[in-house]
Amino acid sequence: MELYKQHQLKIYNSLSNKKEAFEPLIEGYIGMYVCGPTVYSNVHLGNVRTFLSFDLIYRYFKHLGYKVRYVRNITDAGHLENDADVGEDRIAKKARLEQIEPMEVVQRYTVDFHNVLNTFNFLPPSIEPTATGHIIEQIEIIKEILEKGLAYEINGSVYFDVLKYNENEHYGILSGRNIEDSIHNTRELDGQSEKKNPQDFALWKKAQPEHIMRWPSPWSDGFPGWHLECTAMSTKYLGKQFDIHGGGMDLKFPHHECEIAQANASNHQMPVNYWMHTNMLTLNGQKMAKSTGNYILPNDFFTGDNKHLSKIYVAPVVRFFMLQANYRSILDFSDDALLASEKGYYRLMNAVHQLDSLSASKSSTLPINDWLKSCYDAMNDDFNSPILIANLFEGVKYINLLKEGKESLNAEDLEVFKTTIKAFVFDVLGLVDIISEDTTDKLATVIEMLIKMRNEARENKDWALSDKIRDELLEKGIQLKDGKDGTTFSVN
Ligand SMILES: [Zn+2]
Repeated sequence: MELYKQHQLKIYNSLSNKKEAFEPLIEGYIGMYVCGPTVYSNVHLGNVRTFLSFDLIYRYFKHLGYKVRYVRNITDAGHLENDADVGEDRIAKKARLEQIEPMEVVQRYTVDFHNVLNTFNFLPPSIEPTATGHIIEQIEIIKEILEKGLAYEINGSVYFDVLKYNENEHYGILSGRNIEDSIHNTRELDGQSEKKNPQDFALWKKAQPEHIMRWPSPWSDGFPGWHLECTAMSTKYLGKQFDIHGGGMDLKFPHHECEIAQANASNHQMPVNYWMHTNMLTLNGQKMAKSTGNYILPNDFFTGDNKHLSKIYVAPVVRFFMLQANYRSILDFSDDALLASEKGYYRLMNAVHQLDSLSASKSSTLPINDWLKSCYDAMNDDFNSPILIANLFEGVKYINLLKEGKESLNAEDLEVFKTTIKAFVFDVLGLVDIISEDTTDKLATVIEMLIKMRNEARENKDWALSDKIRDELLEKGIQLKDGKDGTTFSVN
């Protein structure tokens, strides 16, 4: 039986602002869409945290036996500097400044994005569509919204008519904003005057003559509005209604609010059952910002080249650190907290290494089933990874007690205990065991060193020493083989 049939998950739904029992539209299947990066600069730590949260969620769904289609897009066109549809396209601007093609900008930062995510051991999504690959689909949605009378064309651009939509629907349903307030709070910016109302947002923008990224449409040669791509790609791959839509909480408004309005206008139904938003992060209790110098870039951990870090940290330690906060809480980075996580990570990994040397007894003295239930309860409660980690450290205590012979487990319980710890540490938390890799590397270096010493001994015709090195290594299970291309070794 699939694990998900034994577990009732609860998810905090940003739409209702409460935890709800999770029921997918189709039993056993989950459709999940997460807004991906705009690839015009190096990925920042806030992005890493957001995608890590959904990596954890994706991994847990898979662990429970769900078949998940996880779609995470790449925004490679349409995201303007200002959310109010003014300013330059972020990618076109970067291309202009660096005097390269927009698609070179896209390629460079997509590769960077994937590299950073791979370093942190993220699972790739099932589909990673791009905005430029879905221009036709976006044009089709604009036509539908125009037909419904909820958008208007002006000077070759098309805008969503927010006030008209709000007559029968609720614009602000997700963010809790009242449209009356936003009317008073919206500043009129230059170049916005062609819109009927400042709240209206672009579905299609006519390209200025110097704008390189442009596509033909019934209205003008231009490009789609930023919010539209996510509606087009989520609908295409997950259907008009799907289970989960996620992103950072800064996307709630206007991006996700606009997505709801577009989908609702074109399909006449709410597109998503559960909206999930990840919280932001801080550094030493302050907002991270390049302008104040209070920031860390993902790569800074691996070089140690940052005034806020006392040393180099490996990726699994940083990943472990981030998982020690719930995705809905603010995550505060500090060197002290990272140092503490590093200790915790090694303590956990060393304990995992002991697992296979534990042997079963006739009877069990530890409450393994209760412990197992606590692990699942933590994750079933809106993916509460810090509580799961606390339970895993309870497991570390068990391992030590079992090793010392102070407690015992029968064969069945021991098997459950081993499998559960490994599944949560490696499959669900996605931690990589660098202790073994590290040790293997060091071992290889030491053997190479001994081979070199043996070669020197042979050159000096010191057969006694060269034989001693070979025989003593063999005694330890390491066999040297002399061949044409030098000496190799194998570990038995
Ligand atoms: Zn999006």
